Amino acid sequence: MRLGPAGFKPKRRWGQNFLIDPGALSAIAAAFRPSPGDHVLEIGPGDGALTRRIAPRVESLLAVEVDPELAATLREEFETARVRILEGDVLSFEPERLLADAGAGPGHPVRILGNLPYNIATVIILRYLTRHDLVRDLMVMVQREVAERILAPTHTKEFGSLTVLCRSFAKVERIRRLRPGSFRPRPRVESEVIRLALHDPGGAAGADPDGYARFVHECFGQRRKTFLNNLARVLASEGDDAHERARSLLAAAAIDPGGRPEEVPPEGFERLYARLKSPPEKRIDSPPSPV
Ligand code: SAM
Repeated sequence: MRLGPAGFKPKRRWGQNFLIDPGALSAIAAAFRPSPGDHVLEIGPGDGALTRRIAPRVESLLAVEVDPELAATLREEFETARVRILEGDVLSFEPERLLADAGAGPGHPVRILGNLPYNIATVIILRYLTRHDLVRDLMVMVQREVAERILAPTHTKEFGSLTVLCRSFAKVERIRRLRPGSFRPRPRVESEVIRLALHDPGGAAGADPDGYARFVHECFGQRRKTFLNNLARVLASEGDDAHERARSLLAAAAIDPGGRPEEVPPEGFERLYARLKSPPEKRIDSPPSPV
């Protein structure tokens, strides 16, 4: 078993728990379904356990690793014209630039793969989730709790803005659960590999993904309050006659104003955002114009 360069000590601040179970690694690589035309962006390659299994089977792979010691050994083992190692914090790179560097362009989105450091997994998912134009899918390993939030059914405490956004912008699939014993050093939590196949939700959410993401986050601002009160608070910051408008928007989107945000499925949020963004003359919630 190799774990980085000689004398290497895994660093907690970078979430360095290396997957060492060969069966799990092979299963993850097979589930990724690498194909010769794929351009892959790998985040956090570590000692290259997944890189080794994927790089020979795809057109190109760009791996971003923050740890200089690991980046140096990865370079020695892998770097060719097709496989490149970029040293740095993935969050410090501008997403479009990084995706373009990985080979994304109009009509050929890249694929993202990563056993993500637990502390930045949701940030990475949210950052790339809305880029279906440049990203085909993300197959990522996350803490089990994060996978459960993403896949949560309505009416549960796990259902929240992460659930709504992931399911508005992707088809999400569980791939495999992993126990702490499959890693060195052992993490304190269980992990799960999931695949997010990105798509355009269409409508207002598709036209303005960043605005939709902000809106969904705000709707969950006070989970214990009704959807009506949460929406009125969101609208109040826009200076509207908040309660009345919130009530008619919810009616137009067929959402129970007395329910809680976690009772509304992603399609409900998409309908509501479409009503909110429709021009005044087309708003179903607006009063009929005088004749
Ligand atoms: N892919 C390897 C595996 O499956 O065994 C390593 C996974 S380990 C959980 C996470 C890796 O991400 C580590 O190699 C760590 O150094 C790297 N990493 C942590 N934070 C990072 C960041 N902000 N940008 C890029 N890589 C990061």
